[in-house]
Amino acid sequence: MSAPSDKICTVPMLMERLAELPRPLVMTNGVFDVLHRGHVDYLHRAATLGASLLVAVNSDASARMLGKGPDRPLNHDLDRAFVLAGLSSVSMVTFFDTRTPVDLIRKVRPDIYVKGGDYDMETLEETQVVRSWGGQSVAIPFVNGFSTTNLVERIRQPKLRKAAFLDRDGVINLDRAYVHRWEDFEFAPGAVDAMRQLKQAGYLLVVVTNQSGIARGYYTEEQYQQLTAQMRQSLAAADAAVDAVYHCPHHPAGSVAPLAIDCQCRKPLPGMVLQAAKDLGIDLAASLLIGDKPSDIEAAQAAGVGQSYLVSSDNPESSGSTGNTWHNLKACVDELLQSRAV
Ligand SMILES: [Zn+2]
Repeated sequence: MSAPSDKICTVPMLMERLAELPRPLVMTNGVFDVLHRGHVDYLHRAATLGASLLVAVNSDASARMLGKGPDRPLNHDLDRAFVLAGLSSVSMVTFFDTRTPVDLIRKVRPDIYVKGGDYDMETLEETQVVRSWGGQSVAIPFVNGFSTTNLVERIRQPKLRKAAFLDRDGVINLDRAYVHRWEDFEFAPGAVDAMRQLKQAGYLLVVVTNQSGIARGYYTEEQYQQLTAQMRQSLAAADAAVDAVYHCPHHPAGSVAPLAIDCQCRKPLPGMVLQAAKDLGIDLAASLLIGDKPSDIEAAQAAGVGQSYLVSSDNPESSGSTGNTWHNLKACVDELLQSRAV
């Protein structure tokens, strides 16, 4: 197998190298700044029109003439050529320095000239040139939805998503202390509706739950995972699918050796929220957290979550909540959505 650099050829050597390639020869040109699926698809379709494909890459100077922006191309011509040469559809890569490749086409005399996009080939100078020796020119439309310019924009302005972080026990389900079996798991009244409403309002649903029962040996990680799977399945069936679930299995006073530690994820520490933000691309300032304990609110504030709300817990051990307290998740979400605070 030849190395990509073997397929790169500057214009002085080009005619000699092209003579070795099987005919018909297809030629196309472009900047190919950041290669994406649309390019690969296009080049593959171009290659199938003949027996060999020559790609003429705009030199950096030539690419700048196209007015795509002062910082384009992002990649230098030699690097763009190298990436193209790595494609099996591409037989040879060369460069051109001018605004259009007309001079190069005259020199190469391809059997078929291909242009990407919705061009009216009849009006192109390139078409008249290839026809002068009996060649043809063909337009291949690009696959919808792929463009280097769009890609660059998405990278520069990542549209971060907002999330509703929800505590589990006491918020999503009734807090019966160390719930770990599905038969003991009961959704809080209206909780599923509230989660669906949050989803419809554009929030990712992220569950962040302390599960020290695992470190304490009350139930195993497997039992926890099984319950979580059942909860997720049940919510998904009700159009309230959660996007992610994070749990902290640790507790310093635990009895299960590796889990009996001071960790970074147990609320009131913000570890789970921060990890979720990283994993899912969450705009924390635009997000909210709903919990039933002051430690939930502390975790939200430590992570920089924009809004946090306390709902009253049905577990007497968790009483003593202060501040904005709603009866339950449903009441909280109803009011938030009504007051358009979210
Ligand atoms: Zn932890």
